[in-house]
Amino acid sequence: MSKVSVDASTCVGCGLCEQSCPEVFEVGGDGIAHVKVHSCAIHNLQEVSEQCPVNAIKIS
Ligand code: SF4
Repeated sequence: MSKVSVDASTCVGCGLCEQSCPEVFEVGGDGIAHVKVHSCAIHNLQEVSEQCPVNAIKIS
């Protein structure tokens, strides 16, 4: 199974990932996206990661 992570030092909290896949991503009160679960049956996480403007989402 893949592992999704957000680089907290790179993320600018724009919220795009949360808009694209709220099942996985949530921008917290700290202004950084957090990963809630590592898979989504609905959204292509590779595509979501490619949308991140600062390339902070890693899928390994
Ligand atoms: S799209 Fe990228 S910069 Fe924007 S909140 Fe998500 S991880 Fe952070």
